[in-house]
Amino acid sequence: MNFARPEEECGIFGVFNHVEAANLTYLGLYALQHRGQESCGIVSSDGNGLHSHKSMGLVADVFGNQDVFKYLPGKSAIGHVRYSTTGSSVLKNVQPIMVNYSRGSIAVAHNGNIVNAQLVKDELEAWGSIFQTTMDTEIIIHLLAMSKSSSLLDRITESLERMEGAYCLLFLTETQMVAVRDPNGFRPLCLGKRGGAYVVASETCALDLIEATFIREIEPGEVVFIDENGITSHFPFKKVKPTPCIFEFVYFARPDSYIFGKNVYQVRKELGRQLAREHRLEADIVIPVPDSGVPAALGYAQESGIRFEFGLMRNHYVGRTFIEPQQSIRHFGVKIKLNPVRDIIEGKRVIVIDDSIVRGTTSRKIVKMIRSAGAKEVHALISAPPTGYPCYYGIDTPTRKELISSSHTVDEIRRYITADSLGYLSEEGLLKAVGTENTHYCTACFTGGYPVQFPFMSPESQLGLFNKE
Ligand code: AMP
Repeated sequence: MNFARPEEECGIFGVFNHVEAANLTYLGLYALQHRGQESCGIVSSDGNGLHSHKSMGLVADVFGNQDVFKYLPGKSAIGHVRYSTTGSSVLKNVQPIMVNYSRGSIAVAHNGNIVNAQLVKDELEAWGSIFQTTMDTEIIIHLLAMSKSSSLLDRITESLERMEGAYCLLFLTETQMVAVRDPNGFRPLCLGKRGGAYVVASETCALDLIEATFIREIEPGEVVFIDENGITSHFPFKKVKPTPCIFEFVYFARPDSYIFGKNVYQVRKELGRQLAREHRLEADIVIPVPDSGVPAALGYAQESGIRFEFGLMRNHYVGRTFIEPQQSIRHFGVKIKLNPVRDIIEGKRVIVIDDSIVRGTTSRKIVKMIRSAGAKEVHALISAPPTGYPCYYGIDTPTRKELISSSHTVDEIRRYITADSLGYLSEEGLLKAVGTENTHYCTACFTGGYPVQFPFMSPESQLGLFNKE
């Protein structure tokens, strides 16, 4: 069995010590839906055993029927939303994973991607382990079950010391909830409180929804135990320089969230301002590609003085076009999702702003759409540098070959998307706008400088690793 290509975008959420733990987790997952739309699940604990409900589909579809909460009793719960592409998108891969082993029951929800998963899995299989899913998360469960250590902290530490890459994890046992953030701190994870209940979430927008107070972020390399006695914090791993993911700011996280100490909306707006400093254009209006380009387009408009308009309307009942698996559907998807406002666009020199060009499909459709609505000129600006390298740490990106920037110059991409001009934010501009202070962000998708190396790198990604840094 081969492990899924590293194409996982996920969100995790957990509540400890609340009479409506599963219901709150459902709401938390609702707020994290943008982090994964393909499947979701909740595991709850009633103090004696764990209970699970999970399925393919959106949170509203899987948990919309209140009856399911009868089967999720107890005062603690963890939940997961997941997106992963074809092949690995099967029911058995829906999280949280729940198992019974010699020491009781345990469930785990994982956001991120373990880069040495195949290596560890091969070793475990040679010793007789049988895997039921194609998820790297299952390896952690095997290692936990095999550990001879008597404390859960030691078992978790021992297991995770074998793992390299990105992981934010939430474990649930009958009596404890444990939150872990990998030493590099690639993905965000925060801690909050609601009355006497502790809450852990991928992003603060999930705390807001359930009216929990933000306490703090879980630190890179931190393991937080939550039980009836409260919270204990541990730092059992070898310390490394953290490398939080800069793409969370560019695209992935929700603008109302605070991650890595900053508000995502403000950062995105600053990306737009910086874009205006780097690309001064003569134009009549600046329009965003909704929703991902909105804060950057506002920032651009404010800095440049060019009028901001909503020139493209989005149908909010359509999922992200990017996630549809077939190329043919993707082409169609952009039209289902966006429609130009002719009255705004006709006769104008238009600047259209988005956060990234991945394969180029979306931008090409959008530029054509704007032109067909009567634009005199269409200038495309991207509030990040070209995405030339795949992510191996938990953001869904296609292979290097499919990333248009890996094999095309900016001018070739401009011609492909049929824009009058195309400009990207510079790498320096990105770092300046995000404000790096003491943080060394992971910018691998833009630079190819992968902070955590891995054994099974394809030749195409090795290019990225060895050419840069
Ligand atoms: P493409 O048509 O492949 O060039 O896709 C570009 C669009 O995908 C842009 O509008 C981005 O906002 C969006 N996008 C960028 N990265 C991702 C991602 N990892 N998952 C989903 N959508 C993305």
